[in-house]
Amino acid sequence: MKATIETVRDWIAAAERIVALAGAGISTDSGIPDFRGPQGVWTRNPDAEKLSTLQNYLADPDVRKAAWRARVASPTWSAQPNAGHRALVALERRGKLHALITQNIDGLHQKAGHTPARVIEVHGTMHGVTCWGCGWEGPMLPVLERVKAGEEDPPCAQCGGILKSATISFGQALVPEVIERAMQAASEADLFLSVGTSLQVYPIAGAVPAARSAGAKIVIVNAQPTPFDDIADAVLSGSIGTILPGICAGA
Ligand code: NAD
Repeated sequence: MKATIETVRDWIAAAERIVALAGAGISTDSGIPDFRGPQGVWTRNPDAEKLSTLQNYLADPDVRKAAWRARVASPTWSAQPNAGHRALVALERRGKLHALITQNIDGLHQKAGHTPARVIEVHGTMHGVTCWGCGWEGPMLPVLERVKAGEEDPPCAQCGGILKSATISFGQALVPEVIERAMQAASEADLFLSVGTSLQVYPIAGAVPAARSAGAKIVIVNAQPTPFDDIADAVLSGSIGTILPGICAGA
């Protein structure tokens, strides 16, 4: 039988090197939809997944225009951290959080109060922009102002190249050093806490069996089943906003 919430709370109280892996599900309570949940962007519109590939973005100006419209309209800019984000900050303040690996690109963990160096953003951030021509990097908000002022597909101000958010699209290479750092942290955990992720995106989903092989207890908090539920010591299914504060808060 899998462990209960009370047991997991005791495990967390005893743990010293917790590594959390967060996915889009931790931000749905902040008004940012996930991809694969019941109200997910791709569940509602399977064609949207196609538009998310790097190849389509670089090849097709209409895809880029649609992407810039979506960025301007994103709920991320006004979103606030929720009880789930704050629960992970509480773990850090208790001195228990070794690392927070996040697949999220919304910046809400940092906004909730984590030490930035403790957050490993494996899929980048939508708060930054990169040029595919000259490699220029800069903040997103000034480029969004250009879009709002009428530039449908704003080019790089330095070289005229294609600008894209500093996120990892499908078909785009991950940053090897960032993935290595995440996998290294996973292998150092005594408790691995997977929160709000369907664990379908690799290689980061592999952090779960990696942590398990290195001896960590595995706790999964998610509304829907994941492919790793069988190897978890605890699967807490339900609302993150309810479960996470209950297991992360100190006595
Ligand atoms: P996913 O959409 O594949 O899975 C999210 C999971 O969270 C689902 O299984 C869903 O049932 C669960 N969930 C949603 N809300 C929940 C809640 N309130 N309580 C409990 N469970 C809840 O997300 P993923 O695994 O992170 O993969 C999607 C990819 O898309 C990631 O790589 C990420 O980079 C990107 N993404 C990021 C954001 C963001 O930054 N907020 C949003 C959408 C997608």
